[in-house]
Amino acid sequence: SSLIVSFGEMLIDFVPTVSGVSLAEAPGFLKAPGGAPANVAIAVARLGGKAAFVGKLGDDEFGHMLAGILKENGVIGDGINFDKGARTALAFVTLKADGDREFMFYRNPSADMLLQPEELNLELIRSAKVFHYGSISLIVEPCRSAHLKAMQEAKDAGALLSYDPNLRLPLWPSAEEAREQILSIWDKAEIIKVSDVELEFLTGSDKIDDASALSLWHDNLKLLLVTLGEKGCRYYTKGFHGSVEAFHVKAVDTTGAGDSFVGALLTKIVDDQSVLEDEARLREVLKFANACGAITTTKKGAIPALPAEADALSLINSSSQ
Ligand code: ADP
Repeated sequence: SSLIVSFGEMLIDFVPTVSGVSLAEAPGFLKAPGGAPANVAIAVARLGGKAAFVGKLGDDEFGHMLAGILKENGVIGDGINFDKGARTALAFVTLKADGDREFMFYRNPSADMLLQPEELNLELIRSAKVFHYGSISLIVEPCRSAHLKAMQEAKDAGALLSYDPNLRLPLWPSAEEAREQILSIWDKAEIIKVSDVELEFLTGSDKIDDASALSLWHDNLKLLLVTLGEKGCRYYTKGFHGSVEAFHVKAVDTTGAGDSFVGALLTKIVDDQSVLEDEARLREVLKFANACGAITTTKKGAIPALPAEADALSLINSSSQ
């Protein structure tokens, strides 16, 4: 199958072994590799697609551990750089009693922020059929310039651009700056996926409806998706729009559900983009993506919970009986 290149950050979340306590009170932490673009690359590879990750890690034990995880999962690592000076990014997570999560990031700066345009593996980027990215790589230079260059190179070489802003407010200097920067590259992407929370943030309205989603529409867009957790997803194209229900599962940790959803969608359209113009086929693909998202919530952590194709098909089959 054709290549999906995912660009951005990969890091380690340190997740407390118990919920409802402060970082200071947490008795211990478990390492959970993550970073949305890396999760998407692994999601694609798990589903049998061809994926590469482009980004920078620290030349330290954590960085090499993360590169090893990509490799073990079949993700092409030719686009990974290692920084001699800065460390791999870390995030310490607080699990609140109500299930919400808070992040404290160690990025001062971390290796991913230091990726330079000159370091990009352009040959790899130009061979992408789909080029996917988020917005965390837009926050500071030089990574921001590397992001913009990689995006343009991929587009010029004919790739479809896919964007999941993946809002992480604490990483931005201000909410206003986050909104501005996230929207500054809005018109380039042909596929955009936002969550309900991101839709509210970007539109400044507390309504999650067709009008608010369509206010984010732009002319280059082929598919706009709004994911709604246990309520499934909504889709918008030039020709049609609608929604696809979620699967009923017992969710234990929703981390990575959106990345799993995106990975599944991209895997299913990379070899045949005409799916985007055929509502019946697109709905089938989104059902598959919803199944992948749902499965990812049933296990702790993002990467360990990403499904293989057979897992998703078996959820789909068991739910339609
Ligand atoms: P994000 O992780 O970006 O916030 P969502 O939480 O909306 O994205 O999840 C993406 C998709 O995963 C949803 O559209 C849905 O299909 C599936 N999903 C997420 N949470 C659940 C859940 N609790 N039950 C079933 N499916 C879910």
